[in-house]
Amino acid sequence: MGDLPAKATFDFEQYARRVSGGPCFVCAFVAGNPDYRHHLVYETDDTIAFLARYPTLLGYCLVAPKRHLESWVHDMEQPEFLRFQGIVHEVARAIVATLPTERMYSMSLGSRQGNAHLHWHLAPLPPGVPYHHQQFHAVMAENGVLVVDDNSQAALAREIRSHIQV
Ligand SMILES: [Zn+2]
Repeated sequence: MGDLPAKATFDFEQYARRVSGGPCFVCAFVAGNPDYRHHLVYETDDTIAFLARYPTLLGYCLVAPKRHLESWVHDMEQPEFLRFQGIVHEVARAIVATLPTERMYSMSLGSRQGNAHLHWHLAPLPPGVPYHHQQFHAVMAENGVLVVDDNSQAALAREIRSHIQV
């Protein structure tokens, strides 16, 4: 896997307490709460993209509407969803322009129990990951999160941003 960062064990119990007991992590970030700071990749009037706080893959981004929606099925009409996905696509293109990417994984996760605010995951699988460590294995924090320092995440966010065309 070349020079990818090492992985550290993920404290899922502490994480579960944070996401179920704290404020909405996206709304808090949008409001500027310093405890919920993320490395901004891109923003429009209604959408925000940022690096995941606990990345399982380098360049792992989340894209979210700024207003508190929980379901892309029920809470977005199709034109809004398609505009949102247009930004998801732009951010994905910018990630692959920044990092060698074998496949861009894309999904909506979260639930009413934790991280309810709609946020779209963009998880770039790098080349060279053994097949049995790809797909869900690659994105599960239970398999470890990358050890990446804040400065290199800030630089990565800036580089991804520089490749966004919209
Ligand atoms: Zn929210």
